[in-house]
Amino acid sequence: MSMKDPYEVLGVSRTASADDIKSAFRKLARKFHPDVNPNNADAEDKFKEINTAYEVLSDPEKRARFDQFGSADGPNPGDFFGGGGAGAGGFGDIFDMFFGGAAGAQRGRATRDGEDIATSVQLSLKDVLASAEREVTFRRSATCDSCKGTGAEGGAPRETCSTCGGAGQVTRVQQTFIGAVRTSTTCPTCSGVGTLVKNHCRTCRGSGQTPKEATLTVKIPAGVEDGMTIRIPGKGGAPGPGGVSGDLYVKVHVEEDEHFERDGTELGTGMNITMVQAALGHEIEIEGLSESLTLRIPAGTQPGKVFNFRGAGVPPLHGGQRGDLHVQINVMIPQGVTEAQAKLLREFAELAGEESAREAHGGFLEGLFKWKR
Ligand SMILES: [Zn+2]
Ligand SMILES: [Zn+2]
Repeated sequence: MSMKDPYEVLGVSRTASADDIKSAFRKLARKFHPDVNPNNADAEDKFKEINTAYEVLSDPEKRARFDQFGSADGPNPGDFFGGGGAGAGGFGDIFDMFFGGAAGAQRGRATRDGEDIATSVQLSLKDVLASAEREVTFRRSATCDSCKGTGAEGGAPRETCSTCGGAGQVTRVQQTFIGAVRTSTTCPTCSGVGTLVKNHCRTCRGSGQTPKEATLTVKIPAGVEDGMTIRIPGKGGAPGPGGVSGDLYVKVHVEEDEHFERDGTELGTGMNITMVQAALGHEIEIEGLSESLTLRIPAGTQPGKVFNFRGAGVPPLHGGQRGDLHVQINVMIPQGVTEAQAKLLREFAELAGEESAREAHGGFLEGLFKWKR
């Protein structure tokens, strides 16, 4: 399932502010809400689309991830980017919108998850032949050493909030004409966390985290392609109280190679030979990506002819046989021939009965793109 561009869905620019996004969402959600469009499947789809888009753009982390990776979810755990997408979208936000904050408050204690971190590694085309290990260094928020993550000076344990008893929210019962109505709101004392500290840690100012340089060895599978992203769950930023660690996203850059062009598992390269080699046949050693290959050019080889070497390409991502290497022949026509050479060439032409090459016209472009299939 691919996700539509959430900016397009909401009709906002890429630089739209949170307020712009919210107001665009509200306008569209009102228009396409199922209550306003009963039995209208198109409106329902549109409504889901709007919700999905808003889910991404209203969450700064998801938005940043979309901007960077073109998907709000990131790849599957330990896997690479495939389809992805933000899913059908919950109705939580729309209920918040229509019924005030009550639905939101029932979600329980506020927690703060660690941030997702993006970093990158650089590989040469040759590196792609086998799985590789690369050390990546990045800055992440880590548990504060001074307070052991509690946020309290000297590492004192956090105290349960007395206002909400640790629940993170306060419930009020109001008597109305339809009976008792319970409303829950985020606890104003602890901001929904459920615990408090008396004296904030001076190192981290109470957040429980300090930025630290982290180093991690990342395994990169053979056959990886430029632009792919590896997700390493739990290796991003340290979480706040009650939250979970963020993920690390490692984007892989495969450098362009000066000799080989890549198309998935296939490689392509060119080879210059002389007119005489093409006419008489020739044997050349060529350097493949990782091996020496013998190219036997038969007599009468035409320019543009492609020779294939099975298994001299790149392995597929999920294991298996390497693809092929395709070598396209370029025949070099001598330039600046001497008078002696010219004489021989004229003699050659005469012997060949050469008048005009016109009659050979037709179909000579065939095979030019053959290796690309
Ligand atoms: Zn601290
Ligand atoms: Zn509280």
